[in-house]
Amino acid sequence: MENFLDVPAEHDRYIVWEKCLQEIRQKLDLQAYKTWFEPIRAKDLEGKQLTIEVPSKFFYEYLEENFVSVMREAMNNTLGEDSQLLYSLRIEDGSFGSNAPQTPNSILLNGNDTKLNKEMSKERFQELYVETPLNFNYTFDNFIEGSCNRLARSAGYAVAQKPGTTAFNPLMLYGGVGLGKTHLMQAIGNYAKNQDDNRKVVYVSVDKFTSQFVNYMKNNDLATFRSFYEHIDILLIDDVQFLGGKEATQDIFFNIFNHLQQGGKQIVMTSDCPLIELKGLTDRLLSRFKWGLSADLQQPDTETRMAIIQKKLQDKNIELDENVVDYLTNAVDSNVRELEGAINALLHYSVNNISITLDIAKQIVQNLVQSHDDNKEVSIDEVIKTVSEYFGVSVEELRDKTRKKEIVIARQIAMYFAKEYTGYSLKSIGYQFGGRDHSTVIHAIQSVSDYMAEGNEIKRFIEEIEKKFKKK
Ligand code: ADP
Ligand code: MG
Repeated sequence: MENFLDVPAEHDRYIVWEKCLQEIRQKLDLQAYKTWFEPIRAKDLEGKQLTIEVPSKFFYEYLEENFVSVMREAMNNTLGEDSQLLYSLRIEDGSFGSNAPQTPNSILLNGNDTKLNKEMSKERFQELYVETPLNFNYTFDNFIEGSCNRLARSAGYAVAQKPGTTAFNPLMLYGGVGLGKTHLMQAIGNYAKNQDDNRKVVYVSVDKFTSQFVNYMKNNDLATFRSFYEHIDILLIDDVQFLGGKEATQDIFFNIFNHLQQGGKQIVMTSDCPLIELKGLTDRLLSRFKWGLSADLQQPDTETRMAIIQKKLQDKNIELDENVVDYLTNAVDSNVRELEGAINALLHYSVNNISITLDIAKQIVQNLVQSHDDNKEVSIDEVIKTVSEYFGVSVEELRDKTRKKEIVIARQIAMYFAKEYTGYSLKSIGYQFGGRDHSTVIHAIQSVSDYMAEGNEIKRFIEEIEKKFKKK
């Protein structure tokens, strides 16, 4: 990199880090800055890769947990978007700075580090492997095909037959809850594994992946974590919308993704929305996701619903009156999971030798559909739209940083419902509201709870909005 000012090249790292610090200082209160940033030393600069030295593992974790986005931004502004920040732990004898011997504990925030790609022992591999199993009940055979899922199913089947060698890499399956994403993704894994038992197939949800990542980081053993994921043949990663706002997880996933892709390994992902609607993902990750094929799963049409019901009844060797089957087909049209729930509830009765009349079926299904509705999952977009309509403010204003009082309250209420009704983390929610951090979301939720307790008109707003969600 070019030399700033008139100083010898080896001093560049101090200047780069000082520029970062200037930015960071403006964003934190003085005490936090003094505690967490003054003890850091710039250790090395190679191209766009800056290594900083921190006093302890705890220190590193605290920085990652609390200041990663501030640091990332400062790095981007100083060294550019593709810059990398590495940590190195201060060694125990207390020596600090450029003369300290290289510690073996370099930790990677992002970027490629060949040191981490070392072989791992069979036992360590096995440990993680048993933690990420397939569900053998999810197969292509029991996945009913219909016009709602035809593209996704055939792309999935192609991938299962020739993992890693089709143009569908990554394969992204997307669609609403209960439409068969997880089933189809695992069917791919099961099929490929049946063809060749030596294939290492891993199924993992983003939530689990994230918590594994955090644990391995805490134990200062990211090398094992990365090495494990880089040694598998088929990675099935479920619900990638939950990567939104998790920057460190995205960084490591980006590296794993590239490694697998380049090695001709297959990646299958699911998401509750199409790529363009994914929020809080870095551009570089999104651009990778666009390389393969996206296929959607839609709500099942009447014929598919009928076929699913008949298959289930056949599997359990149970017959139902035609008018009961008709009723079921039409009464539960939202998604396959609810349809299965209804079928199972009916089967429960027939196992107990009660013959199921249309009346009984109606009763059972109505109870079920109602209780489902009470805690139905809602998307963040729906939350924001509902709240914006209620208050007559625009969706953009709610998502933006405007500080107008009426907008601020509407926004806090929207954040509150986002936490209440969606599966998103505080961090992801903050991200979707103008890139705020999770403490803003906590504050919003706290404020809304306070309004509720005070019982003023805001309480009425909240109750009225709540009814709108319940009606959906
Ligand atoms: P998602 O991951 O999209 O939320 P799942 O894959 O968990 O949905 O599916 C919900 C339930 O519905 C599962 O029990 C699954 O086996 C079943 N299911 C979904 N689609 C189909 C289908 N086309 N044929 C048979 N069962 C299905
Ligand atoms: Mg799922």
